[in-house]
Amino acid sequence: MFWSGELIARTAPVRRRTGPAYPPHVDRGIAAYLGLAVGDALGATVEFLTPNEIRHQIGLHCDITGGGWLRLKAGQVTDDTTMSLALGQAILATGHVDAQAAAEAFDAWMRAKPVDIGNTIRRNLIQFRKTGNPEAIASEHDAGNGAAMRALPVALACYGQPESLSIAASRAQAHVTHHNALSDAACETLIFMVQDFLAGRDVIDVERERAGKLVSDFPVFAYDKRRRENPSGFIVDTMQAVFQAFFATETFEDCLIEVVNRGGDADTTGAIAGMLAGARYGQGSIPRRWLKAVDEKTSSRCSEQAGALLLRPIPGQTTS
Ligand code: MG
Ligand code: MG
Repeated sequence: MFWSGELIARTAPVRRRTGPAYPPHVDRGIAAYLGLAVGDALGATVEFLTPNEIRHQIGLHCDITGGGWLRLKAGQVTDDTTMSLALGQAILATGHVDAQAAAEAFDAWMRAKPVDIGNTIRRNLIQFRKTGNPEAIASEHDAGNGAAMRALPVALACYGQPESLSIAASRAQAHVTHHNALSDAACETLIFMVQDFLAGRDVIDVERERAGKLVSDFPVFAYDKRRRENPSGFIVDTMQAVFQAFFATETFEDCLIEVVNRGGDADTTGAIAGMLAGARYGQGSIPRRWLKAVDEKTSSRCSEQAGALLLRPIPGQTTS
């Protein structure tokens, strides 16, 4: 059966919650994208606060209220969601994950003066403008979480295709701004985890195979030691906080509340945890109050793009 993103938007709007309107993997893919936006919007309020500061200022942070250091409107999302949307749009426009198209899309995104932008992203996009080379020079300093936070469109576009293709596509988009082995390993782990959950795989297997492999390849990612609070933008901190919250909880809501109340880079841990939890639990698991709170234009774009990426498989995909 052929489904287009437009058809999905027309026949089953995002807020419809009566029974499964899509094949299960599409429901989970849409939930992953909405989860990303919800986690971003929820976490942004407490970005750069410590857990103690959150406790004193808010108590338990569990509603999408805006504010934070970016003074967001309630439901407004940040670079985590908007860069993902820019990447997904480039994938749909070119028909494959292309480094040049991704770099141009990110550059256009930066020119539109986004509400926030990471230092590594800014630096390497400025470099792209100067050189025209969409691949940043490999750097041990570029182990931030900026490539991982926008990895979801690659997971969706490459779903059902060989793992080697997901890896090549992940690196094509990631290396525009983050050319780093730790970042690559995290991006690929997240992509495979999302794809596993879309396929309905069990969380115990996914943890053992995917998170387990990440830690055995790069022991620095071990997440069974100290509780990771106040995670920085370092990809290792991010993944540890996300994994601890994600594997210790059993609902979308608990996972997100657990991770954002750790503070630090909370919009990004929220976005990544939301993407995983959405893929794992599906659309019906996302609290209605959060879905309603997210800017409606953004949530429509997320669900439409997820459907379009999943339902228009990309034949003969190549990366450059
Ligand atoms: Mg952000
Ligand atoms: Mg952030």
